[in-house]
Amino acid sequence: MKSLYYFTSLLLICTTTVFGQQQKSNKGHSNNPYYSTTDTNHIKVSNAQWKKILSPNLYAVARLQSTENAFAGKMWKSETKGTYYCAACGNILFKSMAKFASTCGWPSFFEPIRVNSVNYKEDNSYDMHRTEVTCARCDSHLGHIFDDGPPPTHKRFCMNAVSLDFEPETTAKIKAK
Ligand SMILES: [Zn+2]
Repeated sequence: MKSLYYFTSLLLICTTTVFGQQQKSNKGHSNNPYYSTTDTNHIKVSNAQWKKILSPNLYAVARLQSTENAFAGKMWKSETKGTYYCAACGNILFKSMAKFASTCGWPSFFEPIRVNSVNYKEDNSYDMHRTEVTCARCDSHLGHIFDDGPPPTHKRFCMNAVSLDFEPETTAKIKAK
């Protein structure tokens, strides 16, 4: 009897998770076969392939290291609780509790959700010495990291809003149950 209970619970969890993912994948990712919020394995996809899948704005930032204009959209000042994912591949990146109000005009976080969610690369373009932050799953450009963030890390992950997908907590909570 006990095992039946566990089995039913497991089935419920699976159904809810699948439902949650379907809900998310409908948000403009149905043409993106690489998009997954659960798979963390590294993927190698050519820029030619990405160009067919991503919007021109996202392609320019994610694959050509372009930077969107400051104060683009509303994500930089949003205080809604939830989770941020890589907009190119769905990799889970940041929690809203690590987000802080920054006046720079880009969404800013003091730490990623997992240490290995992102990678770091030296960036000496435009005569500046910066550290680029990329998605550890698909290598897409996300933004840069600076040392002027708040405690406890004093880091500022300055991200392009176009590179991030946001899922409000209400849906995330349903998925976690
Ligand atoms: Zn990614």
